[in-house]
Amino acid sequence: MHRFIVFFILLLAAGAPARAFELQSQQVVPGVYALVGPKEARSYDNYGLNATFGFAITPTGVVLIDSGSSLAGAKIIAAAIRKITPQPVRWVINTGSQDHRWLGNGYFAGKGAEIIALKRTVDTQREVGEQWLAALKPVLKEHLDGTVPLHAAHPIAADRRAFELGGRHFELIWLGDAHFAGDAVVWMPREKLLFSGDLIFVERILGVLPWSHAASWRKAFHAMEGLRPEHIVPGHGHSCDLATARRDTGDYLDWLVTEVGQAVADWEPIETAVDRLADAPKFKHLELYDMLHRSNLNRTYVELEQRELPRAAPAK
Ligand SMILES: [Zn+2]
Repeated sequence: MHRFIVFFILLLAAGAPARAFELQSQQVVPGVYALVGPKEARSYDNYGLNATFGFAITPTGVVLIDSGSSLAGAKIIAAAIRKITPQPVRWVINTGSQDHRWLGNGYFAGKGAEIIALKRTVDTQREVGEQWLAALKPVLKEHLDGTVPLHAAHPIAADRRAFELGGRHFELIWLGDAHFAGDAVVWMPREKLLFSGDLIFVERILGVLPWSHAASWRKAFHAMEGLRPEHIVPGHGHSCDLATARRDTGDYLDWLVTEVGQAVADWEPIETAVDRLADAPKFKHLELYDMLHRSNLNRTYVELEQRELPRAAPAK
């Protein structure tokens, strides 16, 4: 997996312009915020915080959803929270194993925060942690200093767990492997608010990576719709409603899996299928479309072809 991560990061880092880094805070409902990073690639200047994070304020401390890509990035998240509340971060929930979801855990744990994650998520974190650090080093350079992969001490061995933190209610839910295996969402049932992690990308196109699961991601998206969220803090992009999430993520996953699935079923060669589907006007408004759409088609084809292989093999 290592060489894929290095390649992917170098690819994304290649054309990234240097510009001042910003993490924008956005109140979603009273006491619950999104911290929105840029939608561009990770870079030295953005500390790898090219994603969206979230937090909920309680009378006894802050619940942070995802901790950033590094110790330095975690400090930037902490500073953004401090502008809004003097409460300390007492809990950090990880929704995934991609760098920006959890590599800042060490900073918050060092300040006394408890790290909370599903066992499924931690299993993937353990698999990719060192590889993420190696891959981030050439991009973040000294901005990566002091970063250690730190996991939840007591991972939750269930697919769904409800708990109360500082009087607010949360559920941590696995709906299916998606961007990474073990990706989860955080649901606040009273607020009908969903922190989707990398299950939802808005404003920019999602990335099907070599280790992503496009078909189950699509199913997970529809399962998430079943929660009927009124507010969504996505993994990338500004907070939004379900219709926006469906337009920018759900419709794309539906289209991708349906169209590529048909090509695989028809035994259309991969090059022909990718060329034919490369022009998808409905999704061209999404940022990074030119960079990611073709590789999304490619990887989805390979995934679905593997699934179809036993059936597609000619009978002897
Ligand atoms: Zn992400």
